[in-house]
Amino acid sequence: KDVVSFQHVSKVFNGETIALSDFNLSIDEGEFLSFLGPSGCGKSTALRLVAGLGNATQGTVKVFNEPPKQIVQNTNDIAFVFQDANLLPWRTVLDNVLLPLELRGGNKKEQKKEAIRVLEMVGLKEHVKAYPRQLSGGMKMRVSIARALAAKPKMLLMDEPFGALDEITRQTLQLELLDIWKKEDMTILFVTHNVFEAVFLSTRIAVMSARPGRLSSTIDVELPFPRQ
Ligand code: ADP
Ligand code: ADP
Repeated sequence: KDVVSFQHVSKVFNGETIALSDFNLSIDEGEFLSFLGPSGCGKSTALRLVAGLGNATQGTVKVFNEPPKQIVQNTNDIAFVFQDANLLPWRTVLDNVLLPLELRGGNKKEQKKEAIRVLEMVGLKEHVKAYPRQLSGGMKMRVSIARALAAKPKMLLMDEPFGALDEITRQTLQLELLDIWKKEDMTILFVTHNVFEAVFLSTRIAVMSARPGRLSSTIDVELPFPRQ
């Protein structure tokens, strides 16, 4: 079942910079798909279009068979994680994760239960009262992932989430992310320029060429350990 489709999509900035050009791709439910390619090849642009951030210059992007902006406005089905964890410094770990739940409204007790559940999942149960400045880069990213998961999205969009982390932290978080992906039954779209990361994490890699933002091919990847 298609959850994302790009049909003949082009994206041109300021009438001159071609970020994507006749880009075609369909993504199935439950895939862990990485966009891989050199800097400037249009990976972030592709992901942002799925998130309803910006419009295609030509062609159609659909998410769950709808225009992305519609999904983003009316549902919590899509969550976005950026390279910068983007935490609110004046809020504790728990309150940062509660934020999207508060925006959605509903029962406070349920909200807190859900926030604790996702914080447990990323191994931060002991740090719920800490403030972002007290956390390492890896921990901040875990909070950012927990915040994204809190609203129970069907799809997680991640733009170089581990790009700023040291190698050991990065590998730890990669393993954790694979666990989360299996447990939460999500589709993940992941942007990286790191070949090893793409091969290790993905079920499929969309390889993009430097210019002008074309999809070269997609590669199916067999994970080094079986999927559940
Ligand atoms: P990647 O994520 O692969 O590094 P991007 O999608 O960020 O690539 O960028 C693709 C191209 O589009 C680049 O040439 C970049 O400079 C350009 N670009 C991206 N966003 C904008 C923007 N908001 N305004 C102008 N040009 C942009
Ligand atoms: P709460 O819902 O707990 O009140 P808020 O996000 O509304 O949390 O903000 C808490 C405090 O942080 C408020 O006093 C607010 O004025 C302040 N604040 C809001 N935006 C910023 C900002 N960009 N930088 C620093 N402090 C801010």
